Amino acid sequence: MLAFAVIGGAACVAAGYQTMSPTGQWYGRTFAGGAKGSRQLALTFDDGPNDPYTGQLLSILAKHNVRATFFVIGNFAKRHPEIVRQTAQAGHVLGNHTLTHPLLIFRSEKEIAGELRDCQAAVADAAGAHLNLFRPPFGGRRPAVLRIARKLGFKTIMWNVPSYDWKALPAAQIERNVARRLRGGGVILLHDGSHQQVNADRTQTVLATDRLIGRCKNEGFEFVTIPEMMSESREAALARP
Ligand SMILES: [Zn+2]
Repeated sequence: MLAFAVIGGAACVAAGYQTMSPTGQWYGRTFAGGAKGSRQLALTFDDGPNDPYTGQLLSILAKHNVRATFFVIGNFAKRHPEIVRQTAQAGHVLGNHTLTHPLLIFRSEKEIAGELRDCQAAVADAAGAHLNLFRPPFGGRRPAVLRIARKLGFKTIMWNVPSYDWKALPAAQIERNVARRLRGGGVILLHDGSHQQVNADRTQTVLATDRLIGRCKNEGFEFVTIPEMMSESREAALARP
């Protein structure tokens, strides 16, 4: 009986962990990285658009001829539709990061659907773009979140290389955090904005991105968008005997 209770407790802890774990698959399939042995990397930027840092990142990405994926907050897209438009025009992929960045595991199904639809509408107004990627705020999800996202036409995208740039670290530390976990198929989590405030200072993320791209290209990695990485993984899976 005691053993049973202990096992039950461990399962509860594990279940709680899985609601936030970026690579956990208990609560439904998500995409958290490419095929093993791949030489592809994907840069993902959350919580923008954020002036002037998103624009600075666009310049750096253009300089390196790299395309990235931006998970935007709908309310910020309404404030800076021109940045969202520029991002799309430069060939980057836009994704849905909800309207207001709530922790969705505590929201009703109606609220979850509303957050996704309202962000979609804000990005459509700004850039005419139709989104089909979704990243849950804080990585928080439960089966209903994934089911609703799927029903609305979104693939849920997590990450497997955290940079911890949201802790306002110096660029060299952000770069080290990423470099330490780097492998082919890496989905790198960075932030061009902050859900806590507008105009959050992301100077260090901008600097770190510039250095990381140079470093990774030297090591033979290629940068792709999330849809490009997903299609390579599909092909790799199909090619397996
Ligand atoms: Zn976020």
